Amino acid sequence: MTCSFCGLGPPRRERFMAGMQEYAICDGCTRLMTSLIRGEPPPAEVVTRPGVDARLEGADEGQLRRRFAQIVCRFCGRGRAELKPGGVAGPTPETFICPDCIVQAQAELLIS
Ligand SMILES: [Zn+2]
Ligand SMILES: [Zn+2]
Repeated sequence: MTCSFCGLGPPRRERFMAGMQEYAICDGCTRLMTSLIRGEPPPAEVVTRPGVDARLEGADEGQLRRRFAQIVCRFCGRGRAELKPGGVAGPTPETFICPDCIVQAQAELLIS
């Protein structure tokens, strides 16, 4: 299993919460997102994949807006209209986790 957000798998990442289809999130990304949501600086050990935003560059604003409008949480399957504001997108806007699922990942992956 590899994390849909950072692309890492074992041995660098050990614990995962599985989402829909092939989506999963690792403990490191869950910790990072927890910090982001709380407004804390992200932990230094979490390194995002370089070029993570590269695929979004070159897309015009209309394309981006359409892609974001279709976002569903890849962990609970709810669409944007049903979700609270917040949440974090991964390397592509389609890789999205909602705030409720981040909280669930914290619990499942034992992140304080
Ligand atoms: Zn990760
Ligand atoms: Zn969700």
